[in-house]
Amino acid sequence: MGQACRDAGMTIGTIVTRFAPSPTGYLHIGHALSALAGWRPARGQAGRFLLRIEDIDRTRCREAFDAAILEDLAWLGIDWDGEVRRQSRHLADYASVLAGLRARRLVYPCFCSRSRIVRESEAPHGPLGPVYPGTCRNLAGDEREARIAAGENHAWRLDVGAAARQAGPLTWRQRDGTVHRVDPFIGGDVVLGRRETPVSYHLAVTHDDHAQGVTVVTRGRDLEPSTHVHRLIQALMGWNEPVYDHHRLLLRGDGRRYAKRDSAATIRSLREEGHTPEAVLAMASS
Ligand code: GLU
Repeated sequence: MGQACRDAGMTIGTIVTRFAPSPTGYLHIGHALSALAGWRPARGQAGRFLLRIEDIDRTRCREAFDAAILEDLAWLGIDWDGEVRRQSRHLADYASVLAGLRARRLVYPCFCSRSRIVRESEAPHGPLGPVYPGTCRNLAGDEREARIAAGENHAWRLDVGAAARQAGPLTWRQRDGTVHRVDPFIGGDVVLGRRETPVSYHLAVTHDDHAQGVTVVTRGRDLEPSTHVHRLIQALMGWNEPVYDHHRLLLRGDGRRYAKRDSAATIRSLREEGHTPEAVLAMASS
């Protein structure tokens, strides 16, 4: 992951950034920092700032939080261009990408239970969670088909070894000009789709950044490990390569990250306490 060199040849065009929250809770000041990281450069350079609601996981997302995100951003004075994109309305697009990867044999069905995966993982605490030991990678084609036909629950996993061979060596570029080597194996054979959530974050986010013409992906440093997987998917699909700006994370007084359960730090509780939008934005930028 080391910084190899500075890339002098970075293309300059209209900047398109986005804020892509999941409506699983109220926005907190960490989200305000993230939204500002995209909004400020877009507004400062006559670019576009997009709002995308990442509401694929129907078990965790709530419409009330979706509405609250729009309201809180408006209260902060953070405006966006065009229509809000909601991932739940584009499931057919993601399904067709997954079908294409299946046809190219770059994904395979995995029948393992979550508990088995945790038990057998090679790296139980990898940066993207447990690294799948590959149990189902080499199942015979007829066994796969028979188990799917019998209705056995399964997830679709990216065969990262095959994908990396096809894509060749890759890098991702940070907005400061540094170029980083992609480690395609960082999360192992990641899940790209499963029954309850037909498409994973990794597939939906890369699809949408491409489809929406995002040129600079601004998001917290905690998501940097995912960028390695995203670059691999982009290369396999021939999608545009954005530049990345993994911004610092806002920490609580005790040094831990804000979470959606920290109700005192939500934009709405700060607003109810009488803070002005300017004061909340200053807190987020401090
Ligand atoms: N939806 C993700 C989240 O709320 C962020 C996705 C991204 O910025 O790439 O954590």
